[in-house]
Amino acid sequence: MRAVAVHEDEDRPRVIRIPKPEPAPGEVLVKILRVGIDGTDHHVIEGRHGEFPEDASTFVLGHEAVGVVADANGTEFAAGDVVVPTVRRPVGASNEYAERNELDMAPADAYVECGISGAQGFMAEYVTAPAEYLVPVPRSIAEYAFLVEPISNAEKAIDHAFASRSAFEWTPECATVLGNGPLGLLTLAVLERRFQRTYCVGRRDRPDPTIDVIERLGATYVDSRETAVSDLADEYEPMDLVYEATGYAKHAFETVDALAPNGVGALLGIPEAWTFDVDGGRLHRDLVMENKALIGSVNSSVPHFEAAIESLDSFPEWLPEALITGVYSPTSVEEAFDGDRGDVKVVVEFDCL
Ligand code: NAP
Ligand code: BGC
Ligand code: ZN
Repeated sequence: MRAVAVHEDEDRPRVIRIPKPEPAPGEVLVKILRVGIDGTDHHVIEGRHGEFPEDASTFVLGHEAVGVVADANGTEFAAGDVVVPTVRRPVGASNEYAERNELDMAPADAYVECGISGAQGFMAEYVTAPAEYLVPVPRSIAEYAFLVEPISNAEKAIDHAFASRSAFEWTPECATVLGNGPLGLLTLAVLERRFQRTYCVGRRDRPDPTIDVIERLGATYVDSRETAVSDLADEYEPMDLVYEATGYAKHAFETVDALAPNGVGALLGIPEAWTFDVDGGRLHRDLVMENKALIGSVNSSVPHFEAAIESLDSFPEWLPEALITGVYSPTSVEEAFDGDRGDVKVVVEFDCL
């Protein structure tokens, strides 16, 4: 069967042929329909994030997948069910995090991530997965369900942000998303349902398809070249929630300035090492004296996937089509991974329902 992989000596993904996998007991055979591409995939290809599975010279990419059960193999699934796989698997047979269904909270030595770090990904005609790592999806949203994984990352972070404010009466009204990549835009769509006023920060000129999506969602576009994140509170309003999805490390600190008293910043971007000056004393004082919180959040587990399915199902009908700017067959994979095309969300399509 065909799979899309990077070879250890190469810096571009290509189609390879590998044997069709056989499901082990407790595993399901899934025929892949679509696999989305995000910023992390580009970082993996560039060698900036993640690592090859042990002893592998080719690494199958892809962690945002939707597929259909081809062989339920005695599990609770039935052939034809539409499913989305979660990304993390335990190192070894199992561990305490896997048993609690909280691999998203596991330390680095306790998990691998399919298509990102230490385990082969989903960009192949067929994959196998233990039944507990597959989440059923209504057929009506199968076409867009590769978006469930990135939305689940947002759901987890929002869940943790609200939990950090749960010890007192918190009535948030406004939220800012930093970053107009796919994660930022999907998060904005989730936040639209919970906040009265929303903003999204990018660094692009009009006309731009991401600015169209931001404004169609009812949010205000802010250009970080004109308004620094640390000036958001003065130029617009102090934010109850700031959600960072740029991977631009200065935003982690500027978020503190953007927050209203009692506000919370959720950091999701994955930057490279970068040394710069910050006024640590002022930030420390501001966090303490205004009861602000900063949380980091990565990955997601089954309940966040379930919340993401609900969100996707309730998004405005136009949104998925507006986000998906490229659908490529595996044979055109070079184009799919060409990051310079001004695409919003790109997907590799293996099959349709
Ligand atoms: P992406 O496509 O790289 O999007 C990043 C966006 O941020 C781009 O639109 C970029 O604008 C914008 N940006 C970067 N620096 C900026 C600045 N200084 N001012 C304004 N906008 C800026 O990546 P993604 O897939 O949306 O993911 C976003 C980040 O989250 C990445 O770092 C990714 O690795 C990380 N991530 C984390 C998780 C998690 O679980 N924690 C999950 C998914 C992704 P331009 O396009 O104009 O350059
Ligand atoms: C993936 C997450 C993963 C994170 C860090 C994101 O792009 O969607 O599942 O945990 O990268 O590798
Ligand atoms: Zn991702």
